[in-house]
Amino acid sequence: MDAYGGRSHGAVDLDLDVAVVGGGIAGVSVAGELARRGGLRVAVLEREKQLAYHTSGRSAAAFLESYGSPEIRALTQASRATLDEVGLLHPRPLLWLAPPAHAPELAALVEAEPALRIATDDEVRARCPVIRPGWAELSAIEDGAQDLDVAGLLEHYRRLAVAGGVTVHTGVSLLDGSREADRWVLRTSLGRVRARVVVNAAGAWADDVARRCGQRALGLVPYRRTIAVVSAPSVDRSWPLVADVADQFYFRPEGDGLLISPADETPSDPVDARPETEDVALALERVNAATTLNLRHVRTTWAGLRTFAPDRNPVVGFSEPGFCWLAGQGGYGMQTAPAMAALAAAVVLDEPPPPLPGPPVTSLLAALSPGRFAALADPAAHGRA
Ligand SMILES: Cc1cc2nc3c(=O)[nH]c(=O)nc-3n(C[C@H](O)[C@H](O)[C@H](O)COP(=O)(O)OP(=O)(O)OC[C@H]3O[C@@H](n4cnc5c(N)ncnc54)[C@H](O)[C@@H]3O)c2cc1C
Repeated sequence: MDAYGGRSHGAVDLDLDVAVVGGGIAGVSVAGELARRGGLRVAVLEREKQLAYHTSGRSAAAFLESYGSPEIRALTQASRATLDEVGLLHPRPLLWLAPPAHAPELAALVEAEPALRIATDDEVRARCPVIRPGWAELSAIEDGAQDLDVAGLLEHYRRLAVAGGVTVHTGVSLLDGSREADRWVLRTSLGRVRARVVVNAAGAWADDVARRCGQRALGLVPYRRTIAVVSAPSVDRSWPLVADVADQFYFRPEGDGLLISPADETPSDPVDARPETEDVALALERVNAATTLNLRHVRTTWAGLRTFAPDRNPVVGFSEPGFCWLAGQGGYGMQTAPAMAALAAAVVLDEPPPPLPGPPVTSLLAALSPGRFAALADPAAHGRA
């Protein structure tokens, strides 16, 4: 066993109900949900030596109910109760800023999203006095936004999974897979794994994993996003998360420094993403243009891949018998994880979906189904663990 409850290797021949490919938040959370049911043989296969090495270990750790498509917002709202219950949320309001050309966009968002309200100039100054007066034509506040303890979230689901008998194999790659009779036979660096259902939770590699299993790719695109933590002597730890509605930057306090991002979206192959110097420079330039901070000293930087489906909604559901997707979480995979995992587990087990607040869960599932992409032959195809 390793620190993550993982097993060491050697040639094995596993016979499973569900093989989850990917040990980021998607894979670990669905494994945790499946473990709750009991009696299922489930394993997580993660190529890296540690869980959450890729995107799940690189997020900005925010929980924002006014961020993303209506479906994303519904999934985020539906996840709040679980995150609250486990004690993973810590208040940090969100302040949206709209430069003149984007004021109508923010006004429409406030109209559509009950979590948001317009903020006056005085309130903006009181919340974050370093924002340049006049930079934003319109501002809005999400009072209920939160910092999300992402390490705690992963650990919550990892514990649930391991306590429910899930085996977590780190340092194990899926090489390829084929369907034989009513099950998948996967060739992995661990040996042979047979499973009734494969859950494709491979993040930026989800299309790659599909191809390796002879499945049609969905056109998922990983986009690199960069974060820097910089020195900011005047930072006040109670400042909100400040984000430009035009997606040019965001920043928030991080310890006694400031976490900043140019909100970049550079298409990438699925790789171990690294920050580019010019993206860090862009973050400094854009935050300095909107504030009086005059940031210069970069302490640390990182980058990660946010992977989107063509319509920027996540993908949950079977594309072929026994092949279930849990992918395309884009920039929302942490804050939507509880609802996505609950939906995915219900789909895998062919159970009725859990009741979620917001739109009818059947229409939500239809909006997230891989069958929504016309290239797929049989949207109704499904399987059962
Ligand atoms: C800079 C940045 C900021 C973000 N901020 C936020 C935020 O504030 N709030 C929020 O909710 N979300 C945020 N996100 C998005 C969130 O981090 C992602 O949506 C989420 O982490 C995706 O999780 P995942 O499990 O799908 O992917 P990953 O964590 O990448 O996991 C996929 C795993 O699959 C493994 N894998 C791939 N191929 C194979 C194979 N063949 N065999 C075995 N294993 C394989 C990989 O090694 C990887 O570990 C942010 C992302 C970035 C990059």
